[in-house]
Amino acid sequence: MTLQTNWNLTKYFFTGLDDPRLKANIDAILPLAETFEKKYHNIIKTFSLPEQVLEYYADYEKMSHEMGTGSIYLSYLQSLDTQNDAVIKKMGGLECVFIEASSKLLFISQEWKELGYEKIMSFANNPVLADYKNVLVSKADNLRYVLGEREEFVLNEKSRALGVVEGLREELTNSYSFEIEINGVKKTMTDEEIRSLRTSPNREIRRKSYESLRAVYNSKQAQITLGNIYAGIVKDWASDVKLRGYNTVMEPRNTSEELENEVVDMLLQEVQSAYPLFSRFIEAKRKLLGLETFYNYDTSAPLSTIEKEFSFEDGMKLHLATMKDFDQEFYDYSVDMLESGRIDVFPKFGKRNGAFASSRPGEPSFVLLNYTNKLRDVSVISHELWHAIHGHLSQGQKPAVYDSPLSLAETASIFNEMLLSEKIRKELSQEEYKEFLNEKLSDTFATIFRQIQYVAFERRVHEAIFAGQELTYHDFNRMWREEQVRMTGGKVIYDVDAENESGWSMIPHIFASPFYCYAYAFGNILVFALYNRYQKEGQGFVESYKDILRSGGSKRPKDLLAEHGFDITSPKFYRDAMEEIEKMVVEFEGLVREK
Ligand SMILES: [Zn+2]
Repeated sequence: MTLQTNWNLTKYFFTGLDDPRLKANIDAILPLAETFEKKYHNIIKTFSLPEQVLEYYADYEKMSHEMGTGSIYLSYLQSLDTQNDAVIKKMGGLECVFIEASSKLLFISQEWKELGYEKIMSFANNPVLADYKNVLVSKADNLRYVLGEREEFVLNEKSRALGVVEGLREELTNSYSFEIEINGVKKTMTDEEIRSLRTSPNREIRRKSYESLRAVYNSKQAQITLGNIYAGIVKDWASDVKLRGYNTVMEPRNTSEELENEVVDMLLQEVQSAYPLFSRFIEAKRKLLGLETFYNYDTSAPLSTIEKEFSFEDGMKLHLATMKDFDQEFYDYSVDMLESGRIDVFPKFGKRNGAFASSRPGEPSFVLLNYTNKLRDVSVISHELWHAIHGHLSQGQKPAVYDSPLSLAETASIFNEMLLSEKIRKELSQEEYKEFLNEKLSDTFATIFRQIQYVAFERRVHEAIFAGQELTYHDFNRMWREEQVRMTGGKVIYDVDAENESGWSMIPHIFASPFYCYAYAFGNILVFALYNRYQKEGQGFVESYKDILRSGGSKRPKDLLAEHGFDITSPKFYRDAMEEIEKMVVEFEGLVREK
């Protein structure tokens, strides 16, 4: 096998910024929108035959695909080199074209609204349109939240002001830098660097990283500014809830995630009932670390300083061996990605941080990594490659129903991390395995419990402001601490008192996408359910699992999962996952006795 560790974008897109085909692609965007407008303006609202809707979607999907090719290419180039001026300029130009094109297409949602619920539902239930059922049902369901043309226009204009507020927060927090003294040397660090010190094996460095974060976020100026920005965003959300007639403050998010209100409420409630598991983990960890008292800055501590290294070849070998055991198609697709230059593996100057997978209808998936030989990096290979395979398996769906909601999107990737951990486990010494379990539990609590803690905080704030209360950062600090203590059950001592607890202001999601965090928790819980089934049924479950992935966004999560025997409206679904976590906690507690 020949390893191609750099993206080969030329093979799939354009030869470079000056490729005339790229220019032609961008120049075609506006005419495409105009052609579509000419064909469908004043027509959508008169649709009477399913064949018309079929043709509409075919045209719409073709237009979207062609419009997106240059844009995705530029976004890949930018990921490889975020500082490249020529790319940034080209992107800027492209954005202007997109704004103009989208203003030509504003008529679409209004005309669907005029067509009305009954008509759209009759299309949704027509066998000719079976492939589009889910998108039509969602369209029909959401009509009641769409206001008139004039109101929508005004709200759209007004939303720019909110964009300014959110942009202000981003710019402000991006401008923050953090001072820290390590071994007598003063250093200035970025947000990402200072946060990464929270996993340092050195307790004093962990403590200082928190102190340094707080020195900036707890300043009166930051608190007043971020507090007002947050209150402003929540007020705007509340007015949207009122104007559009949603039943609860969380309903706009639940609607976009295609989850029923009752399901989301149950998710919150069941995870909160399992909070004592977190206390048990903390208590065991305290003993393993040999600490008298457990501070908040000990939460992400490693158990030891040893760290096993995995070269990319070794990491990939582990991934491929896992795939081979699971399913041939998964294995083949992984190999194909690696051989044809669709995984960009190593860090480079200016390359985007972190990792992602990207797929779109009609095209192969791409993965970006920043591989640094850590055990964590091996999990990231698996995580992102499964996103990529999910994207590949969904290709059988129509583009309009290709993307799955986030609650299903994370399922594939985390499932694979579970498979991989079983493989890795065999490669590790006893000491290394302890660390591995510690990290795995830390991850589980971070991706399920802590996300629910965020959302519980958000719900309190949103409900209070919706009811007309005026809140300031003092209230946010206090509420945040109360939700933290609720989760940690008094087992954690905080480095500052509740008055000075500014943790909420460090979480971008609560500003940028209210309530979004619960989808991570849901996705993770679903993985436990799927994995549990796989352990019981083995290979027999693989086809069922692949069917879930093949469905893309063509079904609501509740219906899709019900078809495969998972009832997400039942508390048992959540409790089973909590039991799996408890098993790991028991194993972790066992390490204390061995010690
Ligand atoms: Zn992911």
